[in-house]
Amino acid sequence: MVEMRNVNKWYGDFHVLRDIYFEVKRGERIVICGPSGSGKSTLIRCINHLEEHQKGEIVVGGVHMTQDVKRIEQIRRSVGMVFQHFNLFPHLTVLENCCIAPMWVQKKPRKEAEAQAMRYLERVQIAEQARKYPGQLSGGQQQRVAIARSLCMNPDIMLFDEPTSALDPEMIKEVLDVMIELANEGMTMLCVTHEMGFAKTVADRVIFMDQGQIIEENAPEPFFNNPQSERTQLFLSQIL
Ligand code: ADP
Ligand code: MG
Repeated sequence: MVEMRNVNKWYGDFHVLRDIYFEVKRGERIVICGPSGSGKSTLIRCINHLEEHQKGEIVVGGVHMTQDVKRIEQIRRSVGMVFQHFNLFPHLTVLENCCIAPMWVQKKPRKEAEAQAMRYLERVQIAEQARKYPGQLSGGQQQRVAIARSLCMNPDIMLFDEPTSALDPEMIKEVLDVMIELANEGMTMLCVTHEMGFAKTVADRVIFMDQGQIIEENAPEPFFNNPQSERTQLFLSQIL
């Protein structure tokens, strides 16, 4: 689904991603963790060209990432993304948030888009809020809407960038439960998160990043019980 070969990126002089090699196979669930500023968001944002890399190769669903707008659009159609701060359209209702891209990008008729949106809103258990505006919902509810909205584009892979770190503790579980269900249904997922319980439950692999590099990569069991690098050990000792 995703392949990165020797990917490097700079913000001006700052070398933010260094020689990144990694892949996500169809159906795999991967968790990325690491200290703040280590390049986790930058890495996943490169996958749908929200950020541009300067060196190396990124292939998403068999499509080689270039500057070509058509290719970028093609890649974006297969990639769903959920952000830390939800990024819902505040002036649209929950239902409209879920219908706008299917109608405008996929050219679905309104009725069909709405029916599909209601199915996904039911799956994240928020269908009864469909006519409300995002500002009328709790953070946990907004994040579930954001997940439903992404699913409405029928993505092949879902990217999550710290989806629970802006939430109050009592709302984290309702969002993680939705993500666990998605994983159980076979969705390919790449999640930046520090929810290590989630990582242990669903991840096939955990990746640790520091200073723009992938330092360590392993199945959850050895990753948590027997981390190899000192930097990983230090990081885990601080968050567990
Ligand atoms: P993480 O998600 O792991 O916290 P980021 O990918 O957001 O890390 O950022 C990695 C580094 O790049 C940080 O030092 C951050 O300050 C810097 N950075 C992020 N975005 C930009 C930008 N648009 N311009 C310049 N520097 C940036
Ligand atoms: Mg980040």
